Amino acid sequence: MPEKQHNLFDVEPPEWEADAAEERCVATVVLPTGLTRPLDYSVPDTLRAELEPGRRVSVPLGRGNRSVIGYCVAIENDKRTNRPLKEIDAVLDSQRLLSPGLLRLTEWMADYYLCPWGQVLDTVIPAGVRSGAGTRLTTFLTVPEEVVAKSASLKLPAKQAAALKHLLAEAKPTTPGEVAEAVGCTQAPITALRRKGLIQSEVRRVGSVDAQEDQAPVEPHLKMNPDQTAALAVIMESLRRGQHETILIHGVTGSGKTEVYMQAISEVISYGRQAIVLVPEISLTPQTVARFRSRFGRVAVLHSHLSDVERHRQWSHIASGNVPVVVGARSAVFAPTPQLGLIVIDEEHETSFKQDSAPRYHAREVAERRASAEGIPLLLGSATPSLESYARSEAGHYRLVEMPQRIFNRPLPTVATIDLCSHRQDRHARGAISRQLHNAMAEALRDGGQVILLLNRRGFSTHIQCPSCGEVLRCPECEIALTHHRKKQLALCHYCDHQTPAPDRCAACGFTGLRFSGQGTERLEDEVRRRFPDENCLRMDTDTMQRRGSHEEALAKFRDGEVRILLGTQMIAKGLDFPNVTLVGVINADTALHLPDFRAAERTFQLVTQVAGRTGRSERGGHVLVQTCQPEHPAIQAAIRHDYVRFAGGELPLRKALRYPPFGSMLRIVVRGPSEVTAREFATTLSERIRQAGEESDICLRLLGPAPAPFAKLRGKYRFAIQLQASQEDSISHLVAAATEKIKPPDGVQWIADVDPIDMM
Ligand code: ADP
Ligand code: ZN
Repeated sequence: MPEKQHNLFDVEPPEWEADAAEERCVATVVLPTGLTRPLDYSVPDTLRAELEPGRRVSVPLGRGNRSVIGYCVAIENDKRTNRPLKEIDAVLDSQRLLSPGLLRLTEWMADYYLCPWGQVLDTVIPAGVRSGAGTRLTTFLTVPEEVVAKSASLKLPAKQAAALKHLLAEAKPTTPGEVAEAVGCTQAPITALRRKGLIQSEVRRVGSVDAQEDQAPVEPHLKMNPDQTAALAVIMESLRRGQHETILIHGVTGSGKTEVYMQAISEVISYGRQAIVLVPEISLTPQTVARFRSRFGRVAVLHSHLSDVERHRQWSHIASGNVPVVVGARSAVFAPTPQLGLIVIDEEHETSFKQDSAPRYHAREVAERRASAEGIPLLLGSATPSLESYARSEAGHYRLVEMPQRIFNRPLPTVATIDLCSHRQDRHARGAISRQLHNAMAEALRDGGQVILLLNRRGFSTHIQCPSCGEVLRCPECEIALTHHRKKQLALCHYCDHQTPAPDRCAACGFTGLRFSGQGTERLEDEVRRRFPDENCLRMDTDTMQRRGSHEEALAKFRDGEVRILLGTQMIAKGLDFPNVTLVGVINADTALHLPDFRAAERTFQLVTQVAGRTGRSERGGHVLVQTCQPEHPAIQAAIRHDYVRFAGGELPLRKALRYPPFGSMLRIVVRGPSEVTAREFATTLSERIRQAGEESDICLRLLGPAPAPFAKLRGKYRFAIQLQASQEDSISHLVAAATEKIKPPDGVQWIADVDPIDMM
């Protein structure tokens, strides 16, 4: 049968559909909460034209036919007409919220990260997009066909006739307000026409989405050095081949990786395609954005501070294909670019690319999936690649590109260690800054340079202890030592924000000489001000940077030279490019070294290497002093030599021996509850089920625990962890999903499964 020409404005179903009467149109609907499995609904003929996968629908659920909202994920003609199916009530969106490709990506995430599909969809599609933030419901008036035909013969009062005439003449959808204004009447004649059935009204959602201020690109590309040229050539080749490939750029700090990303993006734009650039949230500064804007003009920025309206606006712009470059944090990996050409992940080793609530996805893995499905390259860059990515490049899954030189062949800074333990006496007398560090600071400042000091702990004292009875002041909810914040005169829990006034006597024995010990950034600031009273010093940590924009203000002061000593937590360790910094001091390199986390050494190596990279960025050169109790530790030894390969070479065999990632897959389960006994019992039940399922499968499963988590109590809940490991190829996810399908935790107990965990605490 020849198919009838499809008329867009045709409201009648086309003929061929009537012939296929026994076939029913069935939609698969994913519900946001509760149920994990999608449900099938039949689609009434009246809704058929407007329904497509990616739009939301309202459907009846359960015995009471409660009305719920779900996502339509598939539509097909169903031959089994006798299957009893409920009908969809309404289609809620006038456009699809997700493309078929992104829909498949969310399906994969649900499966891989053990998260209900509906919850993944709710995460991927921003709330502002779902609610249509910044748009409003508007009434539009139309004239029915039969009225059009007889309009000439109608006898109407003058105002009503004028209003009808205006509507008949108007080609675009018109609101009552517009009619009233054009005709010079009140709403009354319009209401009268509506009552007589001579006009119809229809409510639709319209956007107030205005065009983005266009900014003309002003900056030309830089002339690249040979390393940059070689790196770009590899990417160009991959882009032109039009196939998926992951390229890992291992480039030392200041090697000019961003320039390479930008020139690759230019190529992608010349194909009429878009690029997504993911950067850690903390690096998403106005400077970073300005760098891309000045090169490309229109750049959409997605960060966590956007209001619903702004986010919806950005999302619509991106979906329209009018924005060539999207820069954003983790969730920008879901940006609805219609013709994606490249994904870039800068600082790919950063842990903030992993989401710490469900779905617990890693943006790098999701990007890999998306890039592979869209047949485009994924570009990863870092001075300290994650061992996962590095191992993949060694195994030939990723293409490795090295950029071992800084721009203009500037030398990397010299790094020396200061043994804290041999200076113990000294240190007690003088605080956190050793004599050598003090002298180096004085010298750098005297020569007109600037100084960065890293201490990865905030607060004044990291614990408060009674020297008489030994009692340490702990959080009643978390059992973690409280940190003394002197300015606020509080003892604060850094996990749940529990706070009490700083005590002046021991709660246990009443002794009044409490000892406030352990170094935090607040105390360090105090010490720096005492040592260098004539210098402006600025502290950057989450306590001082709470106000929006404070981060930028602080960096601007440092850039201007108004402030010459910048101290802070890891917030200052990354990405900053200040040519005048000639000295970096690491107050204590060991803060992360002894955490019960198999990545402790990797974190330490990354942190020291990254903060060292903040200096020596101009011809003035620079050097780094690292205070540590373990100057011989391999992670610190490798960091002071800027020797990533040496670090990886020492660390990877250790991982391999224990089958830790990247040599195996890992899944971590955390059970928590208000009762220690109940939580432990449930954790034991879970682990027993999984152990049994493991034995029945052909997966070689290693199961550890349940054991109290390193943070055994948080926010009043006792926590138990189970660690599962298997070879890289085996899917622990599926085994856990099957083994735990029918298990319900007792009241008050919750459990989570974290696939490829990063947080081991
Ligand atoms: P990375 O991201 O590798 O740490 P950046 O991309 O931030 O390095 O580059 C470091 C500095 O060098 C920046 O100020 C950048 O503008 C500059 N730069 C990069 N490439 C060139 C080049 N080819 N010529 C001159 N300056 C460059
Ligand atoms: Zn607490």
